[in-house]
Amino acid sequence: MKYIFTISILFLISCNTNQPREINGNKLDSNKNKVQNNTSMTSNDTLSEFPASIISFGKPLGSNQNNILGQSPIDINSTTTKKFHSTDPLIHYQNIVLSSIQHTEENLKINLSAVDQNNNYITIKGVVYKLIQFHFHDSSETTINGKRSLMEVHFVNMAADSSFTVLALLIEKGSSNPLLEKLINASPLSQKTGIKQNGINAINDSINLNKLLPTNTVDYYTFSGSLTTPNLDTVPNKGPVTFIVFKSTQQISNDVYKKYIHIYEKPNYRVIQKLGSRIVYENVQ
Ligand SMILES: [Zn+2]
Repeated sequence: MKYIFTISILFLISCNTNQPREINGNKLDSNKNKVQNNTSMTSNDTLSEFPASIISFGKPLGSNQNNILGQSPIDINSTTTKKFHSTDPLIHYQNIVLSSIQHTEENLKINLSAVDQNNNYITIKGVVYKLIQFHFHDSSETTINGKRSLMEVHFVNMAADSSFTVLALLIEKGSSNPLLEKLINASPLSQKTGIKQNGINAINDSINLNKLLPTNTVDYYTFSGSLTTPNLDTVPNKGPVTFIVFKSTQQISNDVYKKYIHIYEKPNYRVIQKLGSRIVYENVQ
C-alpha cells in the first residue's frame, strides 16, 4: 500500500507541467531554496496602517547600504506573516502610450514617457511614486510557500527622492490576456529571423494598464527588499525597495507564453534570498 502511494506521488510530481525554467542548465528547486522564516508571531494584533518600517520613502535607492533590510526575491511563508489593514497603496494607473517597448538583454520592458509617468502613479501614506517602467520575469522571482509561478511582472514606481516601490504581479498559465499578447507581439524582432533583437519599438498605441492588473489589488504581501538585477546570484543589489506582491494572479495562454520564450530565450529570475530577521506583512480586509 505504501509502495503504491509512493508511486502515485512520483507520478503526480512528474505530471506537473508548470515546472520553472532552468538558469544555466541548473533547475532551481524552489523547495531547496526555500528560506525558513525565523520570525515568530508574538501577537495576533492587526496593524491599522501600512507598516512604517518597510516604507522606502526617505531612503533613496542605493544612497545608504545600511538602509537595506535584505535582498529580493524571497519565499513568502504565508503562515508566518504579520497582518495589517490599509487602503494603501492607492493605485492610479490608466492609459499609457506604447512609445518604448524594449527588448533588453534579458527581457521585455515597457518604459513610460514623462507625461505618462505623471499620470500613472501610486501613493503610500500620501507619498507619490510614479510608474517609470514595468518588465517581465520568467519564471517568477517571488515564490509563495515554495511554489514558483510561471512569470512575474514588476511595476517599478519611483518617488521624488528616488526611493522605490515595486508592485509584483504573478502570472500563471491559463486563459489569454489580450494586453499581454499585444505587448509580446510588439517586441522588437529581427525581420530576417523573426526572433529576438535587442532594441526599442514604438507602436504608439494606447493601452489601459488596469487591464494588466488583477481585479483585486487590496489583498497582498509586502516586505522590504532590493532590486533583483543586475546580480541574479547572491551579490547584493541596491535597495531598499518596498515590495508589494498581489495575491491575485494574471493569466497567460500557453501559445502566448511560448511566443514569449521564443523571443526572450533565457530565464531571468534571481535565486531566493535569505529573509533573515525581516517580517513579511499581509494586508487583510
Ligand atoms: Zn524585476
